[in-house]
Amino acid sequence: MLRAKGVILVQSIDLTAFNIIAMTARHHNLRAFANINISHLLANLANIRALHANKSMIIMLKANAYGHGAVEIAKALDGLCEYFGVASVEEGIELILAGIEKTKVIVFSGFFSKDMVQTLIDYRLIPIIHSAYQYELLDEYFQSKHAEIWLKVNTGMNRLGLSEDEFEALYTQAQSYCKPINALTHLAESESCDQSFTLKQLQCFQALIKDKSFTHISAFNSAASLLNNNDFNTNTIRIGLALYGACAAAHPLLRCTLKPVMTLHSHVVAIQSIDVGDSVGYNRQYIAKSKTQIAIVTIGYGDGYPQAAPNGTMVAINGKVYPTAGKVSMDLMAIDIGMNKDIYIGDNVTLFGNHDLLVDDVAKHIGTSSYAMLTAINPRVKRFYLTSTDAETTQSVIKDTTASTK
Ligand SMILES: *Cc1c(COP(=O)(O)O)cnc(C)c1O
Repeated sequence: MLRAKGVILVQSIDLTAFNIIAMTARHHNLRAFANINISHLLANLANIRALHANKSMIIMLKANAYGHGAVEIAKALDGLCEYFGVASVEEGIELILAGIEKTKVIVFSGFFSKDMVQTLIDYRLIPIIHSAYQYELLDEYFQSKHAEIWLKVNTGMNRLGLSEDEFEALYTQAQSYCKPINALTHLAESESCDQSFTLKQLQCFQALIKDKSFTHISAFNSAASLLNNNDFNTNTIRIGLALYGACAAAHPLLRCTLKPVMTLHSHVVAIQSIDVGDSVGYNRQYIAKSKTQIAIVTIGYGDGYPQAAPNGTMVAINGKVYPTAGKVSMDLMAIDIGMNKDIYIGDNVTLFGNHDLLVDDVAKHIGTSSYAMLTAINPRVKRFYLTSTDAETTQSVIKDTTASTK
């Protein structure tokens, strides 16, 4: 049952619920769609909070909330964390216009002109100051009522950040106009098994903030928050990937604690029987070693699925995993289903997102990352937001599904 704004609500989030949504979507002839499980999002938040009980949290909503839909994710989390983090002024405006008001919005990289400063003030956006150049532009912001700032210091990432001297100087200057003043740095390889560089950065940061008074102090991203016990005098964590149920670190503990938020689905639209030596798709990158069947699925790189996926990348059809065959095309991809007779046109295909098919594992197979795979899924793929609150709708979804499967 499609409702206003294309949102489907179901009561319990388990396999049955996913099947219901999958069948409902089939009923509506959607070629590719993503379920965004808000219950899993909240469970991940609770898990991460439990590990860092006394800390503030910045939830990263940049890049459309890692492809999950920034406005919908922000609405689900408004008031449940202290800050949202976005990349640009535009991303910040989008959240404010959508009515986000309980959680404050920080702009991480995107302000570099005087014009943008007025926009920061108008939309109550909080700037991160990563260069002395930005600081010079901020006069009017300092005179506004809420002159909160974050000073970002470079401790080895060498991307954005003040030098140590600039950090000292701006800290001293900011005392007169800004309140609160917060500090952050960014880690370069927090997910690495070898934590020595991370440790070096954290010690450097710890030394820089010593003897200064900051309200919020932040260095840990998802991987660092999940892998480190010592907080190095920080009091605010910045969480992105882990909240969406993926992890950059191949840590077994993380894999079972985190629940995937996005499940990417499509459908079988055709089934081909081919012989030994026959090829599949552009440039004939797959040659059949034996007689087999190829299921053609309605998703491709035009939806944001990686074109680079090699032969043998795994997808699931009716809960069983099969390998891709040949090059991913713009709207379609091909799956080798062997001589299986239980797969039919219209069957649901899962590209990633449940525990048998984690986005982390698919990304690794392809040679990319969960970050890149999730953010690449584009607006052609309709998102459905699943929550556990609307029992009435659940009933209508179930009824609708029953009708459509007869
Ligand atoms: C995206 C981002 C984060 C969050 O990183 P995750 O690995 O997704 O948790 C933290 N800090 C900064 C500056 C970022 O840009």
